[in-house]
Amino acid sequence: MIPVTRPFLPEKSEYQHFLDSIWQSQWLTNDGPLLNQFEEQIGEYLGTSRPAFVNNGCTALQLGIKALNLTGEIITTPFSYVATTSAIVWENCKPVFVDIDASTLNIDAAKIEAAISDDTSAILATHCFGNACDIEAIEEIAVKHNLHVIYDAAHCFGTKYKDKSIFEYGDISITSLHATKLMHSVEGGLVFSGNQTLHDSICYLRNCGHDGYEGYASIGINGKNSEFHAAMGLSVLEHIEVILEKRKQQCELYDELLQDASIRRPVIQQHCDYNFAYYPVVFESEEVCLSVKKELEKQQIYPRRYFYPSLNQLPYVEDRRNTPNSEKVALAILCLPLFHNLSEADQNIIAETVRKVTTLCIS
Ligand SMILES: *Cc1c(COP(=O)(O)O)cnc(C)c1O
Repeated sequence: MIPVTRPFLPEKSEYQHFLDSIWQSQWLTNDGPLLNQFEEQIGEYLGTSRPAFVNNGCTALQLGIKALNLTGEIITTPFSYVATTSAIVWENCKPVFVDIDASTLNIDAAKIEAAISDDTSAILATHCFGNACDIEAIEEIAVKHNLHVIYDAAHCFGTKYKDKSIFEYGDISITSLHATKLMHSVEGGLVFSGNQTLHDSICYLRNCGHDGYEGYASIGINGKNSEFHAAMGLSVLEHIEVILEKRKQQCELYDELLQDASIRRPVIQQHCDYNFAYYPVVFESEEVCLSVKKELEKQQIYPRRYFYPSLNQLPYVEDRRNTPNSEKVALAILCLPLFHNLSEADQNIIAETVRKVTTLCIS
């Protein structure tokens, strides 16, 4: 069976090494030594300010919205994982959807201004599949209209924009370290902000508002992460260069094998040094997409419909405006299997099936 992704696992002995230190410190959670080491090493590796390690990417988004005190409407993308929208609704704000650019699959910056109202407080955009948004255009609009910017960079570990980590952009940028992501800590998330005051409020918010044992800086929730998760994060981080390089090679092989297939691939944004996190493929129609999926599933290969449905069609959102590009892409896109130990032979089988089915459907 070949799933869309499979978590990277370090050697058990490498994780064991960190477990030994947990047994020694007897410190399991709450701002422990491994968590501190992990936050520091992430910052060093990426060349960013030190992030806050939290329990997952969903919480990271909610903490970001909370820390910026966002209210009213938040302009966002309809083409992302559901958490991008649900975090907005959970924080009592209203998502306002702006359609994507059909070529990059990211929010179309040229359409943002028309969606701004007196109630708009921020833009929450996803760098979809690890490909950068039109960051320059978004920053310009944000400055002009005095809006905050949060980036959902859940797919972006290792992506750079203009030679800097992509996590450096926006008032706040978050990523997910869920087991399905390229870099992971089983469950986990990171919140990046170059602004020290914002970083500090994120740290209070994730720790029930505690400022010391008896003082409270703000309200808060339990968004902390444990020493065990930091241990896995540290173990995987040791291998990140190899993981990134392998992904790149695998994507290049897919590119080569699929060069004559009737598919479309997202266009990478200018100035973006892409991390090859996923291998999304857009077909000519939903019919072709579902035929490919069915044919692969017959061979125990399970690509995923990332992302379906378009988020403006969620039952609990109020904003019912149409976003035709997003709706169309959501119907016709699959992410092909891509993970560290996916073999060349399996990639060949997958690509051959895609080529065969797309050719049959077209003729
Ligand atoms: C995975 C993901 C999240 C949520 O992260 P979790 O760690 O699973 O909570 C948020 N946004 C996007 C775009 C994601 O892919």
